Amino acid sequence: MIIGYARVSRKEQAENGNAFKNQKERLLKANIDKLLSDIGSRTDDNRKDFLKLKQLIEQGVVSKIVVTRVDRLSGNLMTLLELAELCDRLNCQISPLDEIVDITTAMGLLQYSMTGAISAYNVRLIRQKIRQGYQARQNRKAANPRPPYGYLVIKEKYVLNPKTIDICQDMIYIYIKERSLSKATKIIFTKYEKKWSPAGFRNWLLNPVLRGHTPYKTEQNRTRRLDTIEEIIYNTHPDQILLSNQQYEMVKDIINYNKTHWGKNSQATTWVNPFVGLLKCWGCGQTVDIIHKKRKSGKIVRYTNCRTRNNRFLGLTCEQKGVCYIETIEKALTQALINKAISIANLASEFEDIPESPTILNLRSQINQLKSIPNANPAITAAIEELERQLVQAQSEGDIFEDNQQQLKKDLVKVFQDPVLWNTVLKHELSPHELRSLYARFVEKIVVKGKEVVEVQLTI
Ligand SMILES: [Zn+2]
Repeated sequence: MIIGYARVSRKEQAENGNAFKNQKERLLKANIDKLLSDIGSRTDDNRKDFLKLKQLIEQGVVSKIVVTRVDRLSGNLMTLLELAELCDRLNCQISPLDEIVDITTAMGLLQYSMTGAISAYNVRLIRQKIRQGYQARQNRKAANPRPPYGYLVIKEKYVLNPKTIDICQDMIYIYIKERSLSKATKIIFTKYEKKWSPAGFRNWLLNPVLRGHTPYKTEQNRTRRLDTIEEIIYNTHPDQILLSNQQYEMVKDIINYNKTHWGKNSQATTWVNPFVGLLKCWGCGQTVDIIHKKRKSGKIVRYTNCRTRNNRFLGLTCEQKGVCYIETIEKALTQALINKAISIANLASEFEDIPESPTILNLRSQINQLKSIPNANPAITAAIEELERQLVQAQSEGDIFEDNQQQLKKDLVKVFQDPVLWNTVLKHELSPHELRSLYARFVEKIVVKGKEVVEVQLTI
């Protein structure tokens, strides 16, 4: 049986929806009997169909594997060598359409492992280059190649985009006037058809670039990648400012005020308990209700009340004493969600995709092709050297596309990790009903004992 195996990374899939289709079509034209395919990283060897492929080879029913390139199978040298050994033992041939590899000979096997080594080497090299690129930019005080809305980057400097200055200033004015991210973003959309998410708009308002500073992501340690803090170089473009210090203080004030005055507009009568059914009593295990009281100052306070304790006349008892304020519950839940987000992100980072630009992909593929020519003459060696020089240059110029998936994941983690953002978005941008369904989705139970939350059990 001849099996075709196709793979694209999530990034390739996101950038070019046809890449996967084209790859499969090419394989189907190569007279295969069965097509297997995965969307996933070359560094992840637990892809579903890849595992199935190995299983079929082990069963001895595969005579040939057709791929477009060897690294479609894996970017892991050990995996490739194991696969080569397995195929050799079970008389299965690996046939890449774009590379010259014959694993039935010692020479071919050597070339095959070389190709694998090169692609594994590239994975490491690209990763290293990204870090070096960040560092080099920072040393040069260069602007991020992707500036925030309202800015252009000219010769590595932030420059106000003359076309959008008025809109930007109006957007800031709208926020200061409306004092609400969701209201402001709605007005901005109606007025300028510029679509912001409340969290995105908040990030934009707080972006140091708007105040004349340049933020850099500090180098990410793989094991502690979540501890990335922005490092700021101050006054890199003091004449290109959108937000004055005074305006910035106002914006920060509003955000902080909103953060600490949750529910200021809601009345006790219309208040929706977002934790309904999730709060449990430590003493009796029963559901705990939230009751509200209006203080003399007019402030409404909300706290827990055990149903059993409230119904002692039924002959039930509960040892629960004291009340737990809703702010305490909020805080404990936020912390639990942050911790969970961190552990999920740590897990996810082990399967990261490698960012690659088409230029780099193309160069590498050319190098690989040249390198697999047996007994290469000096002209080919020279060509390889030239291509490698171009590859290094392309990488050092920061010609690296940020992985969409990776970025999305980072943003998600950022949202979960930042309590301020979390509180702003959750408390102000979601309706109580939305909050309730969100909590119902993520929270199993919250156990209260006296003034404290003693357990937060999540469903994730
Ligand atoms: Zn109780």
